[in-house]
Amino acid sequence: MKVIIFDIKRYAIHDGPGIRSTVFFKGCSLRCEWCHNPEGIESNPEIMVHSERCAEECSACVFECPQSAILKDGNSVVIDQAKCDLCGSCEQVCVYEALEIVGKEVTVEEVMEDIEKDRIFFNESGGGVTFSGGEPLMQPDFLESILVELRERKIHSTVDTSGYVSFKDLDRISGKVDLYLYDLKLMDEKKHINYTGKSNKTILENLKKLLDRGISVVVRIPLISEINDDDKNIRMTAEYLHTLKNIKQINLLPYHKGGYEKRKKLVKKKSRKTFQAPSDKRINEIKRILSDYGFSVKIGG
Ligand code: SF4
Ligand code: SF4
Repeated sequence: MKVIIFDIKRYAIHDGPGIRSTVFFKGCSLRCEWCHNPEGIESNPEIMVHSERCAEECSACVFECPQSAILKDGNSVVIDQAKCDLCGSCEQVCVYEALEIVGKEVTVEEVMEDIEKDRIFFNESGGGVTFSGGEPLMQPDFLESILVELRERKIHSTVDTSGYVSFKDLDRISGKVDLYLYDLKLMDEKKHINYTGKSNKTILENLKKLLDRGISVVVRIPLISEINDDDKNIRMTAEYLHTLKNIKQINLLPYHKGGYEKRKKLVKKKSRKTFQAPSDKRINEIKRILSDYGFSVKIGG
């Protein structure tokens, strides 16, 4: 069994308790315009150009490309997506690491081998492994297999989900995962469709069903100025969450520009709208509003 991942980040401290290794799956059903991992949106590998590393005097990749898909343009390169078959020759020939194929196929065994390297840090910090993306539940069979493996090896597991998945899949892995990180973005359905491409109905229903089963869930709210940081959305979120039971914590995740920078580098261009984080003052106000409803609220992951 194989999946396509785009990274395994070691020593992660914002994706669940303790020190963790975060495995990023490729593929997501949502199209959040502010996505901080745009390389996780498409299911298949993609090519990324790090223009700032490209050397003006070099044209090695242009000569190496078997599809003649690369043009040198000043001190960077332009890739013709229609011609590129993602063979990876350009990535290999570029000594400046300016070209990167994002996404590679891996097996459960290969991922476990990487994970095992940091077991000592997990044990000492109360950490473990987080599956993120993209949407890890788009590959439920692989996810289930690796969660079983982690449980057998007594390694803590966390799944970071958008909730826009089949409840059958959420439910089937629930007995094998230690913690869900569950993203809530917008309560207004029309706005949710507008900014993510999908309704929030399934997301809200799935969260309730998970909590009703007593599953451990941390709700994560990305905070984006003038999109979802207004009083109306925050109070609607608080009111909704207040009707649910067993929420372990709410994490507020202020928007950061990392995703925007990565979008610029992807050859297959995604939306490049710019967003802002709310001010520190506003973030603290939001924290206070949610805390007043009795939730444990943390700024950051
Ligand atoms: S990955 Fe694409 S651009 Fe790079 S060498 Fe192969 S065909 Fe050419
Ligand atoms: S091989 Fe690397 S440094 Fe050379 S032109 Fe291509 S991208 Fe730029």
